[in-house]
Amino acid sequence: MSEVMDNEIAERARKLFAGPIEFLKSAPALQFLPDPVAPEIAFAGRSNVGKSSLLNALTNRKALARTSNTPGRTQELNIFDVGEPLQLRLVDMPGYGFAEAPKDLARRWRHLVNDYLRGRAVLKRTLVLIDSRHGLKPPDRDIMDMLDSAAVNYQIVLTKADKVKSAELAATLERVGEEARKHAAAHPDIFTTSSETGSGIGELRTAILEAAAS
Ligand code: GDP
Repeated sequence: MSEVMDNEIAERARKLFAGPIEFLKSAPALQFLPDPVAPEIAFAGRSNVGKSSLLNALTNRKALARTSNTPGRTQELNIFDVGEPLQLRLVDMPGYGFAEAPKDLARRWRHLVNDYLRGRAVLKRTLVLIDSRHGLKPPDRDIMDMLDSAAVNYQIVLTKADKVKSAELAATLERVGEEARKHAAAHPDIFTTSSETGSGIGELRTAILEAAAS
């Protein structure tokens, strides 16, 4: 793609995310999802990975996505409308990997997420968030396997990049990239972001717009 077109998409993405964005609804089950009238980009990650902070940074809002570390309250898909007229939707999936989550909660999470991943034709891409300090952990590999078998495109986004030294970040990027390349549905490029400093946020907005248009 030419540089002019790249810049144009980046500018469109910047404007889109600076414009109207609204919380639409929470869906505790598939039947509560809105009509599939716009492309969707989903966000997945272990609890505390920085998912709410990333959504807030992307949308330039302080509290669009609210942090909830209470396991029972997080079993919903939170849907955000982006653009007026509507251009795309962001779907905040419930966090996973609670150390003390009761078994039935884990099962409910799996059902909801699997139903959504398998049944949603407008889902264009899932962003799998990984803490830069921790790299891939078993629950992350589980969701990557789920995404592979649901044949949903996904892309890894490293969060909290400001918390690690650049050499450590480069090593994590290398290791995670190597593993991602072994997964059928994983996008080979990995994003590095910090909601604190804003690094990588503009690039991610552009990628979201491009994925929605694909
Ligand atoms: P969630 O549970 O995945 O929604 O995670 P949150 O967005 O609530 O973030 C968990 C914790 O990590 C909070 O204390 C945030 O302030 C912190 N955090 C999130 N993103 C960043 C980041 O980019 N840099 C730093 N330094 N801290 C972050």
